[in-house]
Amino acid sequence: MDRFDGFEGMLLTDQVRSTGAILANTSKGYRRARFTVAHELGHFLMERHELTSDGGFTCRAQDMRETRDGRQHVRQESQANQFAAELLAPTYLVTPLLSPEPDLRDAQRMRDHLDISLEVCVRRMIGGRDEVLAAVWSFKGEVRYLVKGSGFPYVTVSRGDRLPPISAAYRAVQNAQPGFTEFAEAHPLSWTSRTDVDLYEQTRMSNNGHAVTLLWADIPDDDDDPDRPELSVPTFR
Ligand SMILES: [Zn+2]
Repeated sequence: MDRFDGFEGMLLTDQVRSTGAILANTSKGYRRARFTVAHELGHFLMERHELTSDGGFTCRAQDMRETRDGRQHVRQESQANQFAAELLAPTYLVTPLLSPEPDLRDAQRMRDHLDISLEVCVRRMIGGRDEVLAAVWSFKGEVRYLVKGSGFPYVTVSRGDRLPPISAAYRAVQNAQPGFTEFAEAHPLSWTSRTDVDLYEQTRMSNNGHAVTLLWADIPDDDDDPDRPELSVPTFR
């Protein structure tokens, strides 16, 4: 429907939530729309959320990916996403689907079991595992967006950039062979600005040019290193 252009979902309601009606954009598929409905339900139930328009809430695609804790609007989008993720992919259903080590195949299995989008599953995996993870979504070799888990270093690519030519993701996209690559060690500077991390990457290539790359950073924890000598306290005279 034309009226949905640019919007993923709407919640028609008032500030005190006397009644509510949810509209979801289904043009990107049923699984994505399920998340949208759950997200709008979150806005309806979280009574401190402030309406974003006269008649309720209008949420865009980037709102559905918001994870930051910032100003009111950003924070309430994050909270609605957290609500939707917990509702559709609760921890007790997600945990049994995870392998001992991070693997994008787990996200695909989660998608099929829980009937939600692969994108939500990848984000759920990043947030739900102990490893330090991030994911980069690309289309025909161009970065669409990325999501970083807590503790992941600054990622040097952003929306609109080409995938780093020295990355395995770049090679996977060149090959255009649908499926999963195995986790391989990446040069840390291909994705981050740090040289002191061990970095691994795995890509899932679709048959339509879309790809998602999972990044796994092993970050040295110097402060807890028992072999590290105590720093001497300088003395001044
Ligand atoms: Zn929203």
